[in-house]
Amino acid sequence: MAILVLGGAGYIGSHTVYELIEAGREVIVADNLQTGFRKAVHPKARFYELDIRHRAALDELFEKENVEGVIHFAASSQVGESMTDPLKYYDNNLCGTACLLQAMVAHGVDKIVFSSTAAVYGEPERVPILESDRTEPTNCYGETKLAMEKMMSWTARAHGLRYVALRYFNACGAHPDGLIGEAHSPETHLIPLILQVPNGQRKSISVFGTDYDTRDGSCIRDYIHVSDLARAHILALDYLTEGGESDVFNLGNGVGFSVREMIDVARSVTGHPIPAVEEARRAGDPAVLIASGKKAAEVLGWKPVYTRVEDIVSDAWRWHSGHPHGFE
Ligand code: UDP
Repeated sequence: MAILVLGGAGYIGSHTVYELIEAGREVIVADNLQTGFRKAVHPKARFYELDIRHRAALDELFEKENVEGVIHFAASSQVGESMTDPLKYYDNNLCGTACLLQAMVAHGVDKIVFSSTAAVYGEPERVPILESDRTEPTNCYGETKLAMEKMMSWTARAHGLRYVALRYFNACGAHPDGLIGEAHSPETHLIPLILQVPNGQRKSISVFGTDYDTRDGSCIRDYIHVSDLARAHILALDYLTEGGESDVFNLGNGVGFSVREMIDVARSVTGHPIPAVEEARRAGDPAVLIASGKKAAEVLGWKPVYTRVEDIVSDAWRWHSGHPHGFE
């Protein structure tokens, strides 16, 4: 029996495929390669180039392969783009997931683990954030992810499917062997942008907002290593296989670092001065996002291995310095 990883050529998907294969699992990857990279797919995974909105292609895959469970990363994930092109997000994230769930129900595949996000909370009512806290997304990306969670929940009630939604905080780092890592175009995330400075691809890093009510005025986030996220997906799938109920889990380290602190960490990891330029706030950024990872620890037995941000930035730097143009 194989595990089907949708979006397995993307950043978190490709790392999860590596973890699954390193754990001896049989893996099938499907990806439309719109933002993912064929080269990011582990050579031992069977690969299908398909779009999850294409029902006939999904039917063909489910008929051909013996799929025991699905891990679903196939979605658009840029906050800024979701605000300027919301219908792209409704189409890819919601129509895509509806099509996938219809195919799963039709083929009797009843377990799914999928990427959700801290963006479902919007401006948090308190930190650390608990899974039961208010969900009120402030951007369209978070809105579609929350709607995906609800779509799973209603489908679970109607058809007996079970799901785990994993709400990631700030995914970063790269596989410690340096073979795969983060590659977005355009890049919008803090750590890869910071590392473009020592890589000679940008002169300085912008600090978006220096007047937040935080210890140094810049935003605070919970940075979590992609390999720790990847392991959580395997634990979640095993939890469902053992009969676990549908549920939602935060994935973070439970510790916050400011933008300025992350720039300092990158300076010490790379030995480069990394000039920073203070800029206005970016629209829609909450001041502080920190996860409570207690539930994932208690129910899934998940504990992050990479608790030092220096180690996370160091793995990211190994990847970016060795692959300044990503997978190109
Ligand atoms: N950020 C920044 N400069 C940049 C990119 C991001 O100051 O060039 C800040 C951003 O405002 C946020 C934090 O870094 O407070 C993390 O942003 P990112 O886009 O990496 O992740 P997000 O928190 O939006 O998921």
